[in-house]
Amino acid sequence: MNMRTTKEQRRANARSHNASLELMQQLAAYAKALPEVSIDEAFAPGVVTHACYSHDAHCKTLKTGNGFDCNCEPELSFHRQPQGA
Ligand SMILES: [Zn+2]
Repeated sequence: MNMRTTKEQRRANARSHNASLELMQQLAAYAKALPEVSIDEAFAPGVVTHACYSHDAHCKTLKTGNGFDCNCEPELSFHRQPQGA
């Protein structure tokens, strides 16, 4: 079996990766626009809360989209999802 990645496959992978990063950025923008809540409110039972990590501009996570690649000290904020949404 040929394990080499063709130029076409690399382009398709890059498009998929960029689409994933764009979707993550859209979701983060949506969540950060929601009301911010404290950590105690974030973990209250029966509510949906978004945890948003804000990485430094140099952080590798911003390029890869993988949180395990984080090489900064991101700021963490919690945002409440409106009920019924
Ligand atoms: Zn980071």
